[in-house]
This record gives sequence, C-alpha cells and structure tokens, in this order.
Amino acid sequence: MDCTLEKNRANCPCTYDCDKKGACCQCVAYHRGKNQLPACFFPPEAEKTFDRSYAHFARLVAEGTA
Ligand code: SF4
Repeated sequence: MDCTLEKNRANCPCTYDCDKKGACCQCVAYHRGKNQLPACFFPPEAEKTFDRSYAHFARLVAEGTA
C-alpha cells in the first residue's frame, strides 16, 4: 500500500503550521497521546482555535456543530 501523504496534505483542513500535515497516522497518534482529536474533526471556526480536546469536540457535538 502506497502512502497517500501528498493527497492527504492537499485535503487537510488544519491551519496550524505542522510537519505532520498529511501524515495522518502520525497526526492521529500525536493527538491521541494528548487526549485530543485531529483538526479534521472540527468545523473551520472551531479548528482555528487550536483547541483539539475531547471536551471541545464533545461540546460541539452537543451543540450540533460537529
Ligand atoms: S491536526 Fe495537529 S498533528 Fe495534525 S497537522 Fe494539524 S497540528 Fe499537525
């Protein structure tokens, strides 16, 4: 299986300057280790806050915005 890093990078909505952009396996592992979710789980305005916590995501789900 070929790595789809370039395709992933082109579709990544993350606005943070990060060397894991497009390397989704590294991105998920990094945020999982911090009890967080990757940028692509959040709607654009919420993503820009860089608050990737489970609690933030749960609030957005409860509000119906994620
Ligand atoms: S979600 Fe996190 S790890 Fe993934 S590209 Fe953005 S800042 Fe980097």
